[in-house]
Amino acid sequence: MSYTMKVLEKVIKQNPNEPEFHQAVTETLTSLQPFVDANPEYEKAGILERLCEPERAIIFRVPWVDDSGKVQVNKGYRVQFNSAIGPYKGGLRFHPSVCLSIIKFLGFEQVLKNSLTGLPIGGGKGGSDFDPKGKSEREIMAFCQSFMTELYRHIGEDTDVPAGDIGVCDREIGFLYGQYKRIINAYTSVLTGKGLSYGGSFTRTEATGYGLVYLTSELLRQHGNSIENKTVVVSGSGNVAIFAAEKVKQLGGKVVALSDSNGFVYDSEGIDLCAVKEIKIKRRGRISEYVNYRKNAVYTEGRGIWNIKCDIALPCATQNELNGDDAKELVKNGCIAVCEGANMPSTSEAIKVFHQNKVLFVPGKAANAGGVAVSALEMSQNAMRTSWPFEKVDQKLKEIMINIYNNIANVAREVGQEDNFVVGANIAGFKKVADAMLRQGVV
Ligand code: NDP
Repeated sequence: MSYTMKVLEKVIKQNPNEPEFHQAVTETLTSLQPFVDANPEYEKAGILERLCEPERAIIFRVPWVDDSGKVQVNKGYRVQFNSAIGPYKGGLRFHPSVCLSIIKFLGFEQVLKNSLTGLPIGGGKGGSDFDPKGKSEREIMAFCQSFMTELYRHIGEDTDVPAGDIGVCDREIGFLYGQYKRIINAYTSVLTGKGLSYGGSFTRTEATGYGLVYLTSELLRQHGNSIENKTVVVSGSGNVAIFAAEKVKQLGGKVVALSDSNGFVYDSEGIDLCAVKEIKIKRRGRISEYVNYRKNAVYTEGRGIWNIKCDIALPCATQNELNGDDAKELVKNGCIAVCEGANMPSTSEAIKVFHQNKVLFVPGKAANAGGVAVSALEMSQNAMRTSWPFEKVDQKLKEIMINIYNNIANVAREVGQEDNFVVGANIAGFKKVADAMLRQGVV
């Protein structure tokens, strides 16, 4: 049995009941196998065993009091996965589905993603099973303050710099930052995704969605195509989805559908983003309300967004939201490219279908790296005590995404797997981290 498969077997055995973590590690190690086999120094130094084991995983109690005076207790997590190339960096997710398996899969992916940005950031992830949906502002603040009262001792601007993810946007980051500052009595760049009035970077809000579309646009350009006049389906209607849709529109494409965890809307004339922003950002409402704004729009409860005919699909909601049958449906309807805004939204069966049918497929760890890249730029601006204008950060984001695309495409070509961007992203991301680990000794 190869070194890669031995490590995979061991990871699965030593981490029972962690299906999402197994899925992420399986996908990565399988595609790394020929490369790792050809470079025996990795086995000698136990690189894969170390890559798959977080440097530290913290689980803590988060007690808080709800509006009726009742004590509530949630679980808090921070998994500090790998710091070989920089301080741990990765978002916080607040969602009832959060558990150790999900945080570990996200942290593992984050290590390779951050490496792909070319910036000096290690990988980590955290969060809680707390659900901000339906909670009052006071409850959310109480939860965030309690969460940070434990988390603060594990993070720091040179140690670990969290940011947002599902359920954590500028509101939550503000409450978390306020509590951190109060405890340590210093104004540091310990979180990114901060508001513009207290150290945030221009373009951070838009970065993941815009970055996804910059990469998609470069992918199409290098295949003699473009986003212009293409029909695009975007799943989700949160931060990533909204700004991906906005950039598609700016580049001349037409987004015809968006979704949330209850259902999806279809608007054959193109989604009206002003309406979506009012519903989702201003009022924190549901995507079903969109039909009140556009008469021709249709709302459908439940799954089914991938049955809509499109040229390009951008899954931007959550893990495993696009399965093998959805992939077959997209292929049948003539979809030419799928780029992941969310983390691991496509199941392994779906990826197989895309590869078999020559659909251009770029995994999240490359395609959605724009958010963390601009977070790293936020850290740079904070360190320099300066603030760059929107255009400057946006231009840097664009360059980073084009570099990521070229890097993963070149690596895929070098190993004889042209247009296999899963292999390209995994090898390119792995190489930098593994080489740093080799030089730093057994730590
Ligand atoms: P948001 O919380 O802003 O939005 C998430 C969206 O996905 C919502 O529309 C939500 O619907 C939907 N969603 C969540 N869970 C499910 C589910 N189980 N089934 C169907 N829909 C679901 O999060 P983001 O936009 O920030 O994140 C979306 C994805 O992008 C995640 O995978 C995240 O890890 C990834 N990502 C985010 C980055 C960022 O900068 N924010 C950076 C890189 C990746 P509902 O409101 O009903 O829950």
